[in-house]
Formats: sequence, structure tokens, C-alpha cells
Amino acid sequence: MANSTNKMPALFIGHGSPMNAIEDNDFTRNWAKIAREIPKPEAILAISAHWYTTGSRITDETYPKMVYDMYGFPEELYRVVYKAKGSPELAHLTKDLIKRTVKIDNSWGYDHGTWSVLSKMYPEADIPVYQLSVDSNASAETHFQIGQEISSLRDKGVLIFGSGNVVHNLSKISWGMEGGHPWAVEFDHYIKEKIIKRQYQDAINYKSAGNSSELAFFTPEHFYPLLYILGASKEDDRVSIFNDSCVMGSLSMTSYLFQ
Ligand code: ZN
Repeated sequence: MANSTNKMPALFIGHGSPMNAIEDNDFTRNWAKIAREIPKPEAILAISAHWYTTGSRITDETYPKMVYDMYGFPEELYRVVYKAKGSPELAHLTKDLIKRTVKIDNSWGYDHGTWSVLSKMYPEADIPVYQLSVDSNASAETHFQIGQEISSLRDKGVLIFGSGNVVHNLSKISWGMEGGHPWAVEFDHYIKEKIIKRQYQDAINYKSAGNSSELAFFTPEHFYPLLYILGASKEDDRVSIFNDSCVMGSLSMTSYLFQ
């Protein structure tokens, strides 16, 4: 019987720019700090904005490949290698927990939503990592439900890790800007308030935020990983919020730890 002392957290990280993988800043230091503060996982299930597919897919390779799915960045970023093993066994268990069809797909591996954060959290890469895709055809409600279906993995030592951004609108980026545009801050605060009050239905129906939701993102792939984490959270979890800020006008780094 699982109890609350041995369950793993569910974690959503606002990953921001891929450059975080090779930079040392307040955000990345907090990622490393969180990793030191939570129990060491047996495995990590990564749900990254950057694996946005038709239908749900999962990787089950023992040695997943690196995916450099970003363009125009310094050469150094394309040399980052995250050597974690996969977990075929947990991938199949996860597939079985999800009621809808999940395809095994090893054409993908670790994308930068996963490796940019995990290379800071667990630089030794000694914890197996496997990825579940974000289905571009599924409703927001469905992403939340899949999160509920996989929640029990937390009792098996699996860290459920969503990587995206609550606000992610690249067409509105202001590179030199320190904080966020007013609508970015407004949407980020709206979601935060709903999470604190456990009004997850309003986060799922994010358009209830009004005008700010129209600008927060034009495509929802960076938002959806959060819904898996809300689904995977449990009633007796405490939520901790960190990296609570917007950057470059239209990116939110706000991150949520449920444990
Ligand atoms: Zn991204």
C-alpha cells in the first residue's frame, strides 16, 4: 500500500529558452535545487511540449537518442548529450495505464524540453528517462485525464515531469525585456491562482481567463504538459511554486511542484 512518504512528486517546469541548458542562472539553479530537495526518483517520465504528435506516443528504447529540435542556437547547444537510459518496462506499464491508444514510437528520444532541464537537475544522468508525447488532436480535458490515469506511477518511484511554459508566444518576444507583457503576467497569475485554489477546471478551460488567453500562446503545446501534471497531482499534495516570473515579454518560467 502506497503512502504519502514514499510517493514521488509531480513536477511542471517552465523551460524557457534552450540556452538554459548551457547557462547558469537563477532558473537553472532552482531546477538543481528542486532535484536536491525531492527524493531521488527510480525513473522519470518526461512529457515535453516539444514532442507534439498525432495521437499519444511513448518511447520504450533502452538507449533513447538525442533530439536537437531547435534552430539557430550556438554550436555548443548541439553538443549537449544526456546519456540517461530509457525504461522499456515502465514505458509499457505507462502505456497500459492510459485508457486511450498509445503507440510505441522510438523515432523520438530526448528533446530539448527534456534534456535542457534534466541536465541541470540530474547532470549525472543516472536515472532512467522515457517520454510520453502530447497529442495535438486531444482536448485540454483529455490531457488532464491522461495525467490522472498515470498518477499511480508516483507510487512506483516515477517522477512525472511536464516541461513547457504557461505563457509561450514567440511572435511577441522582446529579447531584452526583463519581465512579461501585461497580458503575459495576467495569464500567468490567472493560472497560478486557479492552481492554488485547486480550481483545475478553470485551468483546463484556460480561455476563461479572457483576452490574456488569446495572447498567451497561439498553439497550446507548451501549456498542455501542465495539464498532465495537474491531473497527476493528488488531493493531499502540497503545491510549491518557483521561478515565478515572466521573461522576454512572452515566456513564463513559472513552475509547480506537487508533493
Ligand atoms: Zn519549448
